[in-house]
Order: sequence, then C-alpha cells, then structure tokens
Amino acid sequence: MKYNPTMSDKIEKIKCLIIGSGPAGYTAAIYAARADMKPILYTGMEPGGQLTTTTEVDNFPGYPDGIDGPTMMIQLQQQAERFGTEVRIGMATAVEFSNKNGGWHKVIIDGIKEVHAQTVIISTGATAKYLGLPSEKKLRGGGVSACAVCDGFFYKNQDVAIVGAGDTAAEEATYLANICKSVTMLVRKDAMRASKAMQHRVSNTANLKVIYNTEVVEVLGDEVVEGLRMVNTITGKKKDIEITGLFIAIGHKPNTDIFKGQLDMDETGYLITEGKTTKTNLPGVFACGDVQDKEYRQAVTAAGTGCMSALDAERYLTTLE
Ligand SMILES: Cc1cc2nc3c(=O)[nH]c(=O)nc-3n(C[C@H](O)[C@H](O)[C@H](O)COP(=O)(O)OP(=O)(O)OC[C@H]3O[C@@H](n4cnc5c(N)ncnc54)[C@H](O)[C@@H]3O)c2cc1C
Repeated sequence: MKYNPTMSDKIEKIKCLIIGSGPAGYTAAIYAARADMKPILYTGMEPGGQLTTTTEVDNFPGYPDGIDGPTMMIQLQQQAERFGTEVRIGMATAVEFSNKNGGWHKVIIDGIKEVHAQTVIISTGATAKYLGLPSEKKLRGGGVSACAVCDGFFYKNQDVAIVGAGDTAAEEATYLANICKSVTMLVRKDAMRASKAMQHRVSNTANLKVIYNTEVVEVLGDEVVEGLRMVNTITGKKKDIEITGLFIAIGHKPNTDIFKGQLDMDETGYLITEGKTTKTNLPGVFACGDVQDKEYRQAVTAAGTGCMSALDAERYLTTLE
C-alpha cells in the first residue's frame, strides 16, 4: 500500500526501531532494551522468522536436547519483552532515511503509521527460494529443507538429493556427502554454474552423483519424504528415485526491496555493512542477520550480529549526546 500522509494516525518518536522478528531482531531487542533504548520491534509477516518453518533446531547453543524452532522463537520474544521491548505485529512498508548525523529516520508501518526513530536496526532476513511444487510445500519439515547445514545431520547415513547448480548448492552437496550415505545432485541445465574449483570438489566426492538436464516434478511421500519423481528436460522421460531427504539450494532473496535506493546493497540485494560493524552507509541505520550475510546464514550468527547492531546503535546515540 502506498503511504499517504493524511492516513497517518499519529507520528511516534522513538530511540530505537527494530524491523524483523528473527533471531537477529530479538537479540538486538534484548541488548537495546537492557541499554534502556526502549526499542519497538515490528514482527513483519513471519513472526519469529525462518526458524518457525523448521521443527528441530539442534545447533543453537544452550539447548542440550535441541528445541523446536517456533518454541525457541517464542522464548526469544519473551526474553526481549522481559527487558521492556515492545513487540508489535506490523510490516515496514516504506522508509525515508536521513543522511544526517543525528537525523530522524522515517519508517511507515502497514502504509498507515509513521514512526520516527533515531536509530533503526534492520533484521528483515532472507527468504529461501523453493521450487513451488505443492508436494514440496506439503513435506517442508518432513524431509524437504532449504538448509543443508541445519538439517543434514538428521539424514545421517541416508540417501538424499539436492537441487541446485551454483556454488552454494555444490558446497552444500559436498557437506551432505560427508554425513549421508549418498547424495544425488539434480541440475536443471547441462552444466553447473558453480566455480570450476567447486565442480572439481563435487566430481571428486565418491558418494555424490550429479544428474544434468533434470527437474523435480513431484516429491513423493505422505507425511515424510520417501522419494522423488524427476523428468529429463530433453527427452521428457520421467524417473522415480528413493530418498528420505530433499534439499533445495536454488538461492535466497534478501528482504530489502523497501530499502532500495537508500541503502548500499550488493548485486543480489544483500545490505552492505561497514567492516566488522553493522553500520550501513547511513548514520543511525544498522543491519544484522541474514539480510546482510549470505555466507553463514545461521541462527547463532544472526543472533551474534543482532547483539552487535544494538551495541553499535547505543554507541551512535552516545555520540549524539
Ligand atoms: C528450513 C530452515 C531450517 C533452518 N534450520 C536452522 C537450524 O537448525 N539452525 C540454525 O542455526 N539456522 C537454521 N536456519 C537458518 C536460520 O533460520 C536463519 O539463519 C535465521 O533465522 C536468520 O535470522 P534473521 O533474524 O536474520 O532473519 P529471519 O529469521 O529471516 O527473520 C526475518 C524477520 O523479518 C521480518 N520482516 C521481513 N520483512 C519485514 C518488513 N518489511 N517489516 C517488518 N518485518 C519484516 C520477518 O517477518 C521475520 O520475522 C534454517 C533455515 C531454514 C529455512
């Protein structure tokens, strides 16, 4: 919805606005609230972020028996609220950032409300791309995953497949090959996009087989993945294989559309931060989590940069006093 100033019910002036409710946003909120910055956090359309789409999180420190994603995110929210973070349901739909040191940053919520913040912490994450098949959607969390590093462990000594042709897909395929009995890599075209070095690694991995000119047409199984049906894009011939896990590695889209033209981004839309900080190109605007990290993309790294962004924001406010 386009912002119309007459629709604004009231303009709110605050010290710290956090956009996004994944591990990065809630960790930023815990630190900002404890530093008395009275943060307001808007959750966006996916309260809790990407981890709410997964059942088991086994690698976040502090949970010896693992935890399911949605529960972990509710606990992070509660921890942020304990120190006074105000968590609100709402989506940032437009921004007008100031380029002046100490300037107020305008953020429009749901097209109708205007918030002016001295500091803005962006933690809008990235969205994993999927193939778009109904059977794939049905079995997400039941053997279909977009994160090999997160979920590969659950398929130890099993037969799995991975879809993708770039460097990340090749990297994840070799990662899976270390854990799983066999990995079948499905490439839509007649060649991979991955670098020669990565292709070399793939072809030198004994239990990793690449099948070219192939697309998945259906993921088989009722409650859990039991196999997949694929089609040769040249001959049209269909074939079924038995697998228990399907990993989709066809890329992520950072959620940065509303910041275009105001914040520096790389060619794929990830926000660029300065050196080892979470500073963007504008004073008082910080970015943390997957929205500025296409390398690691883990909950713990997102939380780590969330902490950094709150500390960066607090130091920025101190310089203004
Ligand atoms: C299937 C799956 C399983 C995974 N399993 C694990 C695992 O086991 N361990 C692990 O460490 N990592 C795992 N990951 C990765 C992990 O989920 C991410 O690295 C992490 O969630 C990134 O956190 P984030 O806070 O940067 O962003 P996200 O979790 O992506 O959250 C982004 C937030 O921003 C909000 N948002 C977006 N746009 C707007 C807007 N305009 N206005 C307001 N809010 C907005 C969204 O609603 C959401 O709340 C998994 C990922 C997937 C997809």
